[in-house]
Amino acid sequence: MADTRIVLSENELPRQWYNILADFRNPPPPVLHPGTLQPIGPTDLAPLFPMACILQEVSTERWIDIPDEVRDVYKLWRPSPLYRALRLEKHLQTPARIYYKYEGVSPVGSHKPNTAVAQAYYNKQEGIRRIATETGAGQWGSALAMACRMFGLECTVYMVKVSYHQKPYRRVLMATYGATVHASPSTVTRSGQKVLTEHPDSPGSLGIAISEAVEDAATHDDTHYSLGSVLNHVLLHQTVIGLEAKAQMEKVGDYPDVVIGSCGGGSNLAGLSYPFLGDKLTGKQPDLRVVAVEPAACPTLTRGRYLYDFGDTVGLTPLMKMYTLGHSFVPAGIHAGGLRYHGDAPSLCQLYDEKWIEAVAYRQNPVFEAAVTFAQTEGIVAAPESAHAIKAAIDEALQAREANQRKVILFNLSGHGNFDLQAYDDYLEGRLVDTDYSQAEVDQALVELRQP
Ligand SMILES: *Cc1c(COP(=O)(O)O)cnc(C)c1O
Repeated sequence: MADTRIVLSENELPRQWYNILADFRNPPPPVLHPGTLQPIGPTDLAPLFPMACILQEVSTERWIDIPDEVRDVYKLWRPSPLYRALRLEKHLQTPARIYYKYEGVSPVGSHKPNTAVAQAYYNKQEGIRRIATETGAGQWGSALAMACRMFGLECTVYMVKVSYHQKPYRRVLMATYGATVHASPSTVTRSGQKVLTEHPDSPGSLGIAISEAVEDAATHDDTHYSLGSVLNHVLLHQTVIGLEAKAQMEKVGDYPDVVIGSCGGGSNLAGLSYPFLGDKLTGKQPDLRVVAVEPAACPTLTRGRYLYDFGDTVGLTPLMKMYTLGHSFVPAGIHAGGLRYHGDAPSLCQLYDEKWIEAVAYRQNPVFEAAVTFAQTEGIVAAPESAHAIKAAIDEALQAREANQRKVILFNLSGHGNFDLQAYDDYLEGRLVDTDYSQAEVDQALVELRQP
């Protein structure tokens, strides 16, 4: 009988992260200053990020050491388990072998601390006292709040106001770690005050919250800003997931035919897939497939365009070339809040543009149907974001059944859904609405994009 739970010992925790940029065939398009439209340099980013992260952002070194202090915190939950989904396979009657890497074992229940811990460490090293950030439903905010506490940093989180009131539990989690949480728009920044003067009842948005956190960091010498996805250094830190998974699959003598992850900004997908994708880029595994799974309500890769765009809604950040729906695109209010981002990581977008990876989009009802099947077979109630990867894995397994193929499927179960039971209730009670956009609606926010 095959192993159900494939584990590594503490001393098998990776000592280095894998930097996929070392194996890119073409150099990445430059990141541009929003005012001058010229390529930005390290000094442009210095008010916001520690120099160690800025250098990682542009590094082409293949391997980058994980500091011992970061590994020591990782050891609280890493190496995370790899599971063989034997019960799901049996339920689907598929000859495919399905594996999933489970990141819900971290203290906050997702993959996000893999980068939060590293970023907090580098900020502490460089004498920073406080980190400001934004959060939607609270996944990223709670990861950074925990990481800051572990390195003795203060943490200020601007949380989208509607979530602050409607989803109190992650706010309480952040407060428990000692973070200061403001409902955004707040009165503590000029950006927030401006919005409140014009719209006193504004429910807030991720774009407004980013503006508040960036302003906070830019106006305080002892404070930096931190981002939970999209940037190269964030994806780099997440490769610890795929490096472990590779070692775990080796233990059972398997290698994936297809690697799957949900895609909001791209960090959990990149984290799992980049160490495998390196084998494809270097010609060792030419047939490997990697699949990004997005919500039909925010179809960045499947329906967006590869253009220069801002990272935020307001237009304060540098311009990055990425697949985008346009920074003013407002996705429908689906439960997978972590997947509601107008763009994606530039490195992932380049790989998609060069056809190294594929993408699919699903509506939320079929995604929750898959999540319920998974809960009833494997026992874990998945985060709504992670459920997108489950849906794609099940579809791959069903195709394998049709073709009678012993395909090997690996997906990232990026988090648990224990704080998302309202979403499950809405699904079970038939209250979830599936959104469809016409091409005209998708194109609307794209026509405004000015290209350099
Ligand atoms: C934030 C989040 C995501 C989406 O973000 P990526 O950067 O695309 O990984 C997916 N799953 C979970 C559990 C999350 O918290």
